[in-house]
Amino acid sequence: MSVRVWSVPMTTRFRGITVREGVLLEGPGGWGEWSPFLEYDPAVAEPWLRCAEEAAAGDWPTPLRDRVPVNVTVPAVGPERAHAIVSASGCRTAKVKVAEPGQAEGEDEARLEAVRDALGPDGLVRIDVNGLWDVDTALRRLPALARAAGGLEYVEQPVARVEDLAVVRRRQHVPVAADESIRRAADPYRVRDLEAADVAVLKVQPLGGVRACLRIAEDIGLPVVVSSALETSVGIAAGVALAAALPELSHACGLATVSLLTDDLADEPLLPVDGALPVARPAVDPAALERLRAEPERVAHWEARLAEVRALRQDRSS
Ligand SMILES: [Mg+2]
Repeated sequence: MSVRVWSVPMTTRFRGITVREGVLLEGPGGWGEWSPFLEYDPAVAEPWLRCAEEAAAGDWPTPLRDRVPVNVTVPAVGPERAHAIVSASGCRTAKVKVAEPGQAEGEDEARLEAVRDALGPDGLVRIDVNGLWDVDTALRRLPALARAAGGLEYVEQPVARVEDLAVVRRRQHVPVAADESIRRAADPYRVRDLEAADVAVLKVQPLGGVRACLRIAEDIGLPVVVSSALETSVGIAAGVALAAALPELSHACGLATVSLLTDDLADEPLLPVDGALPVARPAVDPAALERLRAEPERVAHWEARLAEVRALRQDRSS
């Protein structure tokens, strides 16, 4: 299997990173993206590799729709920038990062007011806390943020622990979505068993691929929002394949993140048109592979990482 290591600067610092790196694997069914975040150990990075291998094998389910509505993603930026991002996107749903470490609480209200102003009254606003609040903070902040946003579609992962997620869900009115409580949990079904969420956020790389996510979606019994892990269009295509194959798709997906990268590996980047992505698998652009090729030191790093994950599989199977 052919392996290429790439590196793409991001347009905005997001999730604490400014450069996205990863590997493309080529197989008989095309290219697959393997881009686990740098701090992830081999055990965490292993399902990400399954997703890339599934793509390279060309083993995706049949799509049931030809477009996937998506949200625009608003990083923890100031209100003018937030307004501009939403206005330029054409999306009718905005996902806004809040509770950024080092920022004052009022910055969240200002960002949400700007997003609502840009969307108009009919748009939907969802927020992502990435588990950074405790229960008391969530109960105090949610009514204020819902007011600033003119209503919230849902709050994603307001607290880290799934037991606390259940408490927050019961004690206030904003619907709750689970993200880290599914993709980073030993048991993703605790969210269901504890009735801790109204929406399940599924990401194809951390959860082991399109077919693995389809099974989770079926078993978890919640509306699904397919979101990205900040992939290039090659990785985003796997998320689109999942969203296209879900029997029901009632919410916009979080797959419009290619614009957070300054460049892309595909010949036709998966960018939203009128608030939706086409259900398509863009081809890898050879010139982009060349242009974005990682430095030799990073290539060595990723090759070593890949070898570690494969060694872990060997250990498990012996
Ligand atoms: Mg999230």
